[in-house]
Amino acid sequence: MVLPSACAVPDTGVLTERRHPESPHPYRSPFQRDRARIIHARAFRRLAGKTQVFTHRYSDHFRSRLTHTMEVAQIARTIATTLGLNQDLTESLALVHDIGHPPFGHAGERALDEALQKHGLRFDHNLHALRIVEYFELRYLDFRGLNLTLAVREGIIKHSRDYSPVKHPELVAYFLDQRPPLEAQIIDLADEIAYLTADLDDGLEAGILTLDSIRQHVSLFERFYAQIEARHPGALEKLLFNEALKHMLNALVGDLIAETQHRVQLHNIASLEGIRLVKDRVAGFSASMEALRMETKRYLYDHLYNCEELTRDHEKAERVILDLFQAWSTDPALLPASYSAQIEEEGLPRIVADYIAGMTDNFILDLHKEWQGATASSIGI
Ligand code: MG
Repeated sequence: MVLPSACAVPDTGVLTERRHPESPHPYRSPFQRDRARIIHARAFRRLAGKTQVFTHRYSDHFRSRLTHTMEVAQIARTIATTLGLNQDLTESLALVHDIGHPPFGHAGERALDEALQKHGLRFDHNLHALRIVEYFELRYLDFRGLNLTLAVREGIIKHSRDYSPVKHPELVAYFLDQRPPLEAQIIDLADEIAYLTADLDDGLEAGILTLDSIRQHVSLFERFYAQIEARHPGALEKLLFNEALKHMLNALVGDLIAETQHRVQLHNIASLEGIRLVKDRVAGFSASMEALRMETKRYLYDHLYNCEELTRDHEKAERVILDLFQAWSTDPALLPASYSAQIEEEGLPRIVADYIAGMTDNFILDLHKEWQGATASSIGI
């Protein structure tokens, strides 16, 4: 299953360069150092307090953004190892892939984007992740940020989408007219595999999804469940579920590996340059698996992500973010000094969004309660 070795990002060369040159480490590769820097970052630790899909009101055993991140790293590492890609780079990219997410999952991202759009700006979690690793993390005497390699910075912005060089001239250093290396391409797909399977699990656990409805609507799951149930009559339903889900995850990973390898052969690609210059991204699922993936995703949107119970959480999340965005925009003196110092350079709306995006769910909920209390007393309630 291994691809030609020149398809992998090497541990030397232009992609290992850092903004501020550093001497090589005696026994750690550049991407091993990046992985360590990401794990030691404050923004990484805060992923533990951020919603993936379920807020903490459900229970502490649902996935947080941190445990989701670890599942993505696990899946991505298997794919990278099997294809002979650079494992340390892949793992660094998986660990950093959600670091730019604001509190409250996608509802939080939508609210921040909505608030910024009124000022002609946008909120994009990939670009925000780049701001975190380039600017907000303060660990070194000589520079701001984590001083990550070019390959990791490129992967942060390009793992899930492409950016137009016309709309984003500030990203010109990141080879915008070329595809990212396979190590970055597989992150988005490992992310999908991780959350599609995990959200079936957590959705069932939360009592929002039922086993019958999953079996009825998710063909890939049902295919394995029916076989396993026939082989283990009388087994606990939850264990049959776990076993079927494990097979589903394995089938998605196996298909992705085989199809990616097939496309590399088909396009006669023998190097990283070949991966970069081919018209479409090389990593992907086969057509039949892609249809099953889409079916699963549609099911989760219809029955979980947009269900009434979670919609109430989303509405509350949006209200909290929009209230505080408005409060700090009206009275920037309430912002911490480290943020207000940057208003002149970046403009107030971006700085308010930066401040909010860094928060965990509980931290922003506490601030919102305080704000509500202060607002109520100022209007004499
Ligand atoms: Mg993710």
